[in-house]
Amino acid sequence: MSLDHIFRNARIAGREDETVDIGMSAGRFAAIGMGLDAGAPFEDLGGRLVMPGFIETHIHLDKSCLLGRCVCEKGTLDEAIGAVAAAKTGFTQEDVYARAERTLRKAILQGTQRMRTHVEVDPRIGLTSIHALQKLKQDYAWAIDLTLCVFPQEGLLDDPGCDDVMVAALEAGADVVGGAPYMDADSHGQIARVFELAQRFGVDVDFHLDFGLDPSHLDLLEVCRLAEKTGWSGRVAIGHVTKLSAVPRPQLIELARRLAGAGVAVTALPATDLFLIGREHDHNVPRGVALAHVLLEHSVTCSLSTNNVLNPFTPFGDCSLVRISNLYANVAQVGTPAGMAACFDMVSATSARLLNLKDYGIREGAPANMVVLDCATRAEAVSELAPPLFGLKAGRRTFTRPAVSLHLPALEPAAA
Ligand SMILES: [Zn+2]
Repeated sequence: MSLDHIFRNARIAGREDETVDIGMSAGRFAAIGMGLDAGAPFEDLGGRLVMPGFIETHIHLDKSCLLGRCVCEKGTLDEAIGAVAAAKTGFTQEDVYARAERTLRKAILQGTQRMRTHVEVDPRIGLTSIHALQKLKQDYAWAIDLTLCVFPQEGLLDDPGCDDVMVAALEAGADVVGGAPYMDADSHGQIARVFELAQRFGVDVDFHLDFGLDPSHLDLLEVCRLAEKTGWSGRVAIGHVTKLSAVPRPQLIELARRLAGAGVAVTALPATDLFLIGREHDHNVPRGVALAHVLLEHSVTCSLSTNNVLNPFTPFGDCSLVRISNLYANVAQVGTPAGMAACFDMVSATSARLLNLKDYGIREGAPANMVVLDCATRAEAVSELAPPLFGLKAGRRTFTRPAVSLHLPALEPAAA
């Protein structure tokens, strides 16, 4: 077989015990093994980690980069929703596009190649953000696969006219339907309506769910029930679920079994949850991060994601999923190499399961999508925040970040 290009001495994530050569042909992985065809041009990766691109399962491009436009002092969820609702009245398609593009470019430079972004729709913003992000999706398809999840951040049942805009967004081609049941008085009513829309349009479901620290009422039980009843198991994700951080371990394991059985996946969003949760405390502040690695050990499909970037929900953000996995490991007190590798998987391989991706992975025949990190193992990437050095999508290089080098005095020419 003739190969276009070979990366020698690669350590593929999940098979890090050995180094292999990765050969590509016509934008696909064509051969993986030792001593591939010496005739093709090659690069030596020096035993570095190669993975099939990071995956952002839950981010909000439309409301990223709003610092400076919003006044926030309390740092609570209600304040953030109110501040963004006010800012939203000034959104235009060009403005949404420009801010989303800035965030998307950062994500690409951090090695992210797949992304599910939530997009707010309501009777005031209409389809403005959807249209902006549909254009962005097309313009950046060379670097990243973007899918759009429409959701009613300010409520669905209690916001007259919002249902019509949700339907219009799905008719306009939105890929996934979402919800924020805590915004309506009848949370189960919103959950039921979102499942109706999912069935009508044949799309996956992704809720913002069970935010807060009081686990006496859990909407996730209703989501599990409807996932099973509608046959949507394996197509449903729930994000935040911070109430899971407030239940004792035996109950958490019981809930994990329920989620796994119903095929409901969980996304933890540590940057936002750490920032917003527990504001009523002035000391011993609860962490409020769902223990995704424990859920994962009990067969729940789990991911970690960025959620918000430079806005009142999270005034931080470099779009690095390596940093998010490190932040999670630190907060969740994960310290073993196997545990850190699992944190890496929650921004890559298990995230691919959550998004039901069919062509994710470094294997012969798959599209040549890959990112090279300046480290040897997944655990090292998480513990040492290893930077992504370059990435390819369908065999074409999408970004390059030169590895840093130290200028040791002995290597400098002697002064005259
Ligand atoms: Zn979110």
